[in-house]
Parts: sequence; C-alpha cells; structure tokens
Amino acid sequence: TSFGFKEVGEDEKSQMVGNVFSSVASSYDLMNDLMSAGLHRLWKDRLVSELNPFPGMKHLDVAGGTGDVAFRILESINSIRQRALQNVLEDGLQEETQIYICDINPNMLNVGKKRAVERGLGESRSLIWVEGDAEALSFSNDSMDGYTIAFGIRNVTHIEKALSEAYRVLKRGGRFLCLELSHVDTPVFKELYDYYSFAVIPALGELVAGDRKSYQYLVESIRRFPPQETFASMIANSGFQKVEYENLVGGVVAIHSGLKL
Ligand code: SAM
Repeated sequence: TSFGFKEVGEDEKSQMVGNVFSSVASSYDLMNDLMSAGLHRLWKDRLVSELNPFPGMKHLDVAGGTGDVAFRILESINSIRQRALQNVLEDGLQEETQIYICDINPNMLNVGKKRAVERGLGESRSLIWVEGDAEALSFSNDSMDGYTIAFGIRNVTHIEKALSEAYRVLKRGGRFLCLELSHVDTPVFKELYDYYSFAVIPALGELVAGDRKSYQYLVESIRRFPPQETFASMIANSGFQKVEYENLVGGVVAIHSGLKL
C-alpha cells in the first residue's frame, strides 16, 4: 500500500517526523553512510568550510541532533585556535565559542550527546544542546553569527516560518547555510537516481533499520521539497541577501546560502 503522503495533514506530518526520527535514531548513522556511500560526511565538511567558522563565534545548528555539523564547526575552530596559540595569543581568541545544537527530538539530541563523548568533546563548554522547534526558536533577535541546517528543513512543517526564524536570530552580517537533498535534472542520471530512491532506499531501510516506511517517507519528502531555484526564492523572500546555491553530485544535494545585511 502507498503511504498516502499527499493526504497527510500538518499535525500528522509533525507527528510522523517525530516518529520517523525516534525510530531511526539508533540506526541513523549506519543508514546515512550506506545510503550516501559515506558522501554525507564530505557534504557536511563542505557546508562547514563554506561557513568559515571563527573562534568566539556564536553559532546555531538547527535540526542538529546528531551533532555531526556542530562537531565539525568546533573542530575547525579548535584547529584555528591551536595554530594561533602557537604564534601570538590574541585577545579575541579568549572569547568563548558557543555552538547551539537545536533539535525537536530529544532522542536525536541524546545520540548527539553520546557521540560528543565518543569524540572527546563531552566536556566542551562550547556545545550547548537545546530541545526546540526550527519554526519557533528560543533565541533572541540578532544573536547569532551563523545558522546551519543540514538535512533538516525538508522535515519542517512550515519552511517559511523556519526561514524567517533563521533571519530573526542572525546578527547583521550573519550567514544562513542549508544543506539539503535536492533535485537531479540530468536525464540518465535522474532515472538511475529515481530507481535508487524508490527501490533501493526503502529496501535498505527494511534490511538495516527494520523500518521500510520511514525510508519511504524520506524518499517522498525529497520529492516534495521545492527545487533549487524555488527554495532560493523562498530564502530571498525571508529577507536574505546574496542568496546562492551550489549543487553537489548533480543536485542530489544542494547547499543554499544567504546573508542577513
Ligand atoms: N543535521 C543532522 C545531520 O545532518 O546528521 C540531523 C539530520 S536528521 C535527517 C533531521 C533532524 O531534524 C532530526 O534530528 C529531527 O529530529 C529534526 N527535526 C525535524 N523537524 C524539526 C523541527 N521542526 N525543528 C527542529 N528540528 C527538527
């Protein structure tokens, strides 16, 4: 039977997203590696290098439950810090970096906290875990230097609300960056990708996570997500300037960015 995605109402969508991530949290990492052949790691590296993290920055990573993006930001800052410390101790570097990891699902946050410990970042005061909704952030206006959301905005019920919240919490000059599964246009590659999405991914989900439905939902949600240009317009309509996007692997994923000026 089909999963009836087109008919789901908004409440059901939120509930379903909750269920999906509760049920997949534990097999989440393995599935990401399998589905993307490990590429999601490189895509996240790319997102963070685009961000240009700096010591003392105040950053918000939304839908960041697993900590994947936050750890990369912190590690990138720590390596800058070490290099700088070897030369001269600058005052600016003493300022405390704060990376907020916000996710609606406490199970995902717990996965992230556990992984922070495994990565030797368990004691870091720079990582701050917050349970919260991308559509109604608990942070004050103009408080963040950067905002990232990786594989998260697709699951948000009202994308525009999440975008305007991103805009609200960023400082002037702050950067918005979004990594998301997107749309492939090249004819032959598109057919291969469709086959992979509709046949392989749900089967993998069943085999590895014992959960076909959640992965069917994943594939459907990728299809429903607005194409690159449309999403770029939505970002611009939320007030962001210099909106750009970069396709990776022919549009399998895209990194959109914007500046609050
Ligand atoms: N950013 C992480 C990564 O790239 O590995 C996790 C991505 S995971 C596919 C999507 C995450 O979005 C889940 O942890 C889920 O709980 C979270 N999420 C879904 N809706 C949300 C919302 N409205 N606000 C905040 N987080 C949300």
